Amino acid sequence: MPPNTLENPKEFWKAVLGEIELELSPNSVVLKSILGRTRLDSISEDSVALVCDDEFVKKNLEKKHHSLLSSTIKKLAKKDMRLEISVKRFQEMKAVEKEPLGPLFQPERDISQLIKEKQQKSNLSPRFTFENYVMGKNNNLAYAIATAVSERPGELYNPVFIYSGVGLGKTHLLQAIGNQIIKNKPGTKVIYTTGETFTNELIDAIQSGKGKGKYTTNEFRNKFRKVDVFLIDDVQFVIGKESTQEEFFHTFNALYMDQKQIVITSDRPPKDFTNLEERVTSRFSSGIIADIQPPDIEMRVAILRARRDQDRDPMPNEVIDFIAEKITSNVRELEGAYTQVITQLQTKGLELSIENAAIALNQSIREKAQKNVNINEILKAVCTYYSVKAADLKGERRTKEIVIPRQVAMFLMKEITSTPYMTIGDFLGGRDHTTIMYGVEKISEEAKHLEKTKQDIVNVKQLIYAE
Ligand code: ADP
Ligand code: MG
Repeated sequence: MPPNTLENPKEFWKAVLGEIELELSPNSVVLKSILGRTRLDSISEDSVALVCDDEFVKKNLEKKHHSLLSSTIKKLAKKDMRLEISVKRFQEMKAVEKEPLGPLFQPERDISQLIKEKQQKSNLSPRFTFENYVMGKNNNLAYAIATAVSERPGELYNPVFIYSGVGLGKTHLLQAIGNQIIKNKPGTKVIYTTGETFTNELIDAIQSGKGKGKYTTNEFRNKFRKVDVFLIDDVQFVIGKESTQEEFFHTFNALYMDQKQIVITSDRPPKDFTNLEERVTSRFSSGIIADIQPPDIEMRVAILRARRDQDRDPMPNEVIDFIAEKITSNVRELEGAYTQVITQLQTKGLELSIENAAIALNQSIREKAQKNVNINEILKAVCTYYSVKAADLKGERRTKEIVIPRQVAMFLMKEITSTPYMTIGDFLGGRDHTTIMYGVEKISEEAKHLEKTKQDIVNVKQLIYAE
């Protein structure tokens, strides 16, 4: 018989569960699962308050198990106690109370289900984990920081800023941080968002706030400021637009002051945000910055082998080597090429050989080249990438922030669509064809020896070709 443990609610509840277990037949899975979704809230002189995580659980307890619970409690408390059952989400409870009590009533299935739900709520996809992220020379610093942060959020590095070109694994790493934190401590409030979503939601909030809609700026603020871990992907979409940039900065500061973990990714380092105020740039740089470089050949092979093993594909090593040699740009392209080869050959029933892989790859490269791109799409991609307005590119302004994107647009329009200089000139606000020729020439020269220009062009092209 346990001691009178009413003074120690946690122990008391444990004892109640222990007693009930003795009464249960081994196949009382329903009651086990129901109690697994029930927590002790508090104990007073004459009552025991329980909370369940949803209405169904509460009803089930009240209808079917009330007498078993009451009699067990009475037996241990040595007096009549009222039983109060309410519904509350566990994450809203105080830290101690939301701890599950003992493994008995937490069947494996329930915990993994809880984690899945939490990940979903945080906008995370369980597909991205540290386990399936291949580490190599090109990403080891970012990887080390990400794993450390996921073990001790808010304690080690803050903020964390990770940047790279497209398709090199930023989103994967950022999501892996969130997923791991939730696995370690399901009670942590994690939010993953992208620069684009953040911007759109803010604009919606402002607009519906004006018409007294339900989603006001206050709600917007609470949503982002009341989290333990804030993960923002592709922050470049927030930067450059004054209103969103300002709101983001406030969110950032609020979280930073509360020592909440912030992880930011971007397509460029903080210092390259030319139109960002000094105070924001320096905040971004105040924690730790890591970049991810394009993968070298060893890394590309390692990634494809990991992929093959995970999917249990019968892909021979030499075909993997072949694809890894051909596709050098980034991991997304590499994976795309791999998928293309394996699905094409398997659906046609062809042997997985280098020769057949070469044919499949060539075809996919040709198809891509045939995607019809027009100059308007190029303009849009340039505007998105550099956070500038189309009207400015077509307008008269000659500041550096406008002139460079304008010339990159000229260059890409010529290179990709071979549109006549005159037509491009007309499209870009009635400029003379010699101006266009000059711009195209200038960027094509720069692209030969300036790393930054080269990377910018690759990035804009990725935007153009992304569906
Ligand atoms: P980014 O956000 O930098 O554009 P993503 O994170 O979307 O890149 O990565 C593109 C694809 O490549 C994803 O499917 C991701 O899982 C995969 N990937 C990137 N880096 C790695 C890596 N180091 N190991 C395994 N997969 C990777
Ligand atoms: Mg991404």
